Amino acid sequence: MNSAPVAVRRRSGTFPPPTLETLPVAVTANVARVRARTRSTIMAVVKADGYGHGAVAVARAAVAAGAGWLGTTSLAEAAALRAAGLAAPILTWLHPSGIDAEAAAKAKVDVAVGSVDEFGALLAQAAPATVRIHLHLDTGMSRGGCPREQWDDLLRLARDGQRARRVRVTGVMGHLPLADRADPAANAAAVAAMREALREVRAAGFRSPLAHLAATSGTLTDPATHFGMVRVGAGLVGIDPSGSVAMHGASRLTAPVVHTARVGAGTPVGYDGAYVTDRATHLSVLPLGYADGIPRELSPRAGVEIRGRRLPVVGRVSMDQIVIDTGAVPVPVGTSATVFGPDGGATPSVHDWARWAGTIPHTIVTGIGPRVKRSTT
Ligand SMILES: *Cc1c(COP(=O)(O)O)cnc(C)c1O
Repeated sequence: MNSAPVAVRRRSGTFPPPTLETLPVAVTANVARVRARTRSTIMAVVKADGYGHGAVAVARAAVAAGAGWLGTTSLAEAAALRAAGLAAPILTWLHPSGIDAEAAAKAKVDVAVGSVDEFGALLAQAAPATVRIHLHLDTGMSRGGCPREQWDDLLRLARDGQRARRVRVTGVMGHLPLADRADPAANAAAVAAMREALREVRAAGFRSPLAHLAATSGTLTDPATHFGMVRVGAGLVGIDPSGSVAMHGASRLTAPVVHTARVGAGTPVGYDGAYVTDRATHLSVLPLGYADGIPRELSPRAGVEIRGRRLPVVGRVSMDQIVIDTGAVPVPVGTSATVFGPDGGATPSVHDWARWAGTIPHTIVTGIGPRVKRSTT
């Protein structure tokens, strides 16, 4: 039988809102872990707001720990890093509305050029200064980069452009499609393509461009992919997509209990009554939902940490709220729950949430919505 919910201990006053805390010390430790695996220059990739952790905070910690370059997808992201005072070289590689030569030169940002069309459009612009470019070869992604058949034409444009001082070729870039398998044999074709392309670049008269192919997985599992620089994003924030190396989680998501009630056995919880209590228990509400990045499709194993205990998320995830079954113990309003964090024990990790949602940790950390307050410790 249902019994009327009884609200308990409604506390007066305020408490901290849902907060995503970034932990730069973890970024520092992760750079050290990467450094132990490669002597190549480390580019800290901080696209998508530093994988949701704050691009500036992650970039600062990574540079202080020894990263020599920064990487973003857009010039706007690169300009934000410059505005925050980051002086390290920056490469940006996606240009959905074309490469803005003036903006790139002004922010002193290198841009990847991945097609003859893109290069032509760049050279057609009025040139305020020489634009530093990395020639981007498609090494097997079929998603970006210059197709092999166009490579000779791209090199011809690069030679002419550099002669006219419109561009300077500073790098050569590829990307590994299969590195998450942690099997060097899977990377061999891309490594060979990269070596061949580099030979041609040198033969075309470009002396020592910085070559880079590997992201986190290749960096951690296959030294043959390292070349002059490695581009590490996920690894900075504690994710090794190859699952080979334990990295340090770099964020903690907390939320206060905003409502607690005692309910009887047989009480349906949330939309559709998808969960029904099987005993008298206490329910607590956290003010976080799918609009804040809590995945709506979740395994029944999903839970959060409250006062040192792992407690289950029950019923449907709503847009703005989730419900926690806290059992025999009522949790006072204002008590902090940890949704994920690097703490271990009862605290779920980002990897736990990815497993419960049938996804990868990247989507969890990049999905935390703008209503969640950010803090850096
Ligand atoms: C995102 C990205 C990276 C970083 O990949 P991680 O696996 O997160 O380290 C490297 N290179 C390119 C081109 C990328 O888009």
